Amino acid sequence: MTSELRSNFLRTQIQSDLEKGVVAELVTRFPPEPNGYLHIGHAKSITVNFGLAEQFGGRCHLRFDDTNPEKESQEYIDSIQEDVRWLGFQWSGEVRYASSYFQQFYEWALHLIDEGLAYVCDLSADDARRYRGTLTEPGRDSPFRDRMPEENRALFEQMRNGSFEDGSRVLRAKIDMSSPNINLRDPILYRIRRAHHHQTGDEWPIYPTYDFAHGQEDAIEGVTHSICTLEFEDHRPLYEWFLANLPVPHLPRQIEFARLNTSYTVTSKRTLKLLVDSGTVSGWDDPRMPTIAGLRRRGYPAAAIRHFCEEVGTSRSDSVVDVAMLESAVRDHLNQHAPRAMCVMTPLKLILTNLESDKDLIIANHPSDESKGSRSVTFSSQLWIDADDFREEANKKYKRLVLGKRVRLRGAYVIEAERCEHNEQGEVNCVYAKVIPNTVGEDPEDGIKPKGVIHWVSAVTGVSATIRLYDRLFTVPNPAKSDDVLSVVNPDSLREVNTAVVEPSLVHAAVESVYQFEREGYFVADRYDHSPSQPVFNLTIGLRDSWGTAK
Ligand code: ATP
Ligand code: MG
Repeated sequence: MTSELRSNFLRTQIQSDLEKGVVAELVTRFPPEPNGYLHIGHAKSITVNFGLAEQFGGRCHLRFDDTNPEKESQEYIDSIQEDVRWLGFQWSGEVRYASSYFQQFYEWALHLIDEGLAYVCDLSADDARRYRGTLTEPGRDSPFRDRMPEENRALFEQMRNGSFEDGSRVLRAKIDMSSPNINLRDPILYRIRRAHHHQTGDEWPIYPTYDFAHGQEDAIEGVTHSICTLEFEDHRPLYEWFLANLPVPHLPRQIEFARLNTSYTVTSKRTLKLLVDSGTVSGWDDPRMPTIAGLRRRGYPAAAIRHFCEEVGTSRSDSVVDVAMLESAVRDHLNQHAPRAMCVMTPLKLILTNLESDKDLIIANHPSDESKGSRSVTFSSQLWIDADDFREEANKKYKRLVLGKRVRLRGAYVIEAERCEHNEQGEVNCVYAKVIPNTVGEDPEDGIKPKGVIHWVSAVTGVSATIRLYDRLFTVPNPAKSDDVLSVVNPDSLREVNTAVVEPSLVHAAVESVYQFEREGYFVADRYDHSPSQPVFNLTIGLRDSWGTAK
């Protein structure tokens, strides 16, 4: 990791646990449920868990919390592994699955039953809700609470053997129906659900709940610090109750931190799935999505995402981070690392009246990093410049090409516009200019300096390309608060430009490589659609933060 590691409460706690010998080696885990693609919030959890293991010479497991088979799939399992690796992390050992421990969980459930600490409850879901009480009122004991262990064991074995209807009975822990913490009011441990599981097939007609599974998974794997987000704080007493009442091989400890929330972003997997299923975006990896696969396709470098996750810090108070901070981390990284190239979005023909022959100019790939080398670019008497970069008349603020005035062509000569032609609609469609001799890298000898620099592409060697201009997906800072999230989708979040011409070196850009198109922004060769015969670039980010300001 390149960035300075700042201290935070997790690092302090772990440092102290290692120094005092509370644990010999740090073991963390990243425990996604494979029910969607990972998003920027998961990137935070990944950098926390894998980052701590790296920092303290420990281990981090990747464990799928796969206790809800209906919503899970192999596609999600594959994408999650790919995303973790792409972010730059490698889990310790094999990929792990909660479902590998189903038999152990089942035996532990029987243990609780035998100890008189769990019972089979036949209340309907509605009745169970009524018996549970509220935040201000205690719950009431289920009429099935005093079943004897033998009866509970027999019923639970029948649940496991598939003798009962889905949803007809549950196994509950026997804790305290009057606890102020609702999680302790005889929580459900198992439900009957004849669902096909992506790992265990049709072996199990019953599935454990998250609460009954998570701490035991940590215990089986020897996880020392089970780091999760604050919404699990109220579940911690239950996490500890299971560990205290089961013959587990190891005692993990749960520690919570605040989730990462960024403005203009949704991070609920349900909402992200809705965006995909409604066709609002092209898929989970659409470049507008806050998924890791989407950010990757957008051209966000993994290192910039890791840096951002470190910079936002790790605390116990919830907050919303301005998404501009993520964008700025991306921009800073790319400014330093992305090679430069030229692309004209809206081409206007520029004819140089005094250029005797084509020239091959050597242009540096980066203004301050010589190690990025240089390339040869053909300078011909017919060039494309951007239509926005020429005006017949303009005031002094306009520092581009104006009739009778000079401008520098990036990496090439100073030119002076002489005249222009118009099409039938009266629009300028061709500009004639003369080259001022000996001005590559030099000021004109007559002392009349150009005010600005514009980019260009040779009309002879330039290649047409598709450019996808992306903007934020939502028009409001907190889309998750909207009743109908689809109604706050930015209708202009994708604009495809089909007129663009790029310099020929870009045809061979490796997919996923990001360039700064001079004066336009950072663009990535699309991971799937870019090819030498049809170049396709996605806007990663503009050169400046121009959100909300008129362009
Ligand atoms: P859900 O439980 O609704 O499916 P989830 O976002 O909690 O969604 P998980 O797959 O359970 O998804 O998350 C895996 C891990 O990532 C958990 O430890 C969770 O706490 C953490 N995580 C999820 N969202 C964030 C976030 N926004 N910031 C930090 N950590 C997060
Ligand atoms: Mg979760």
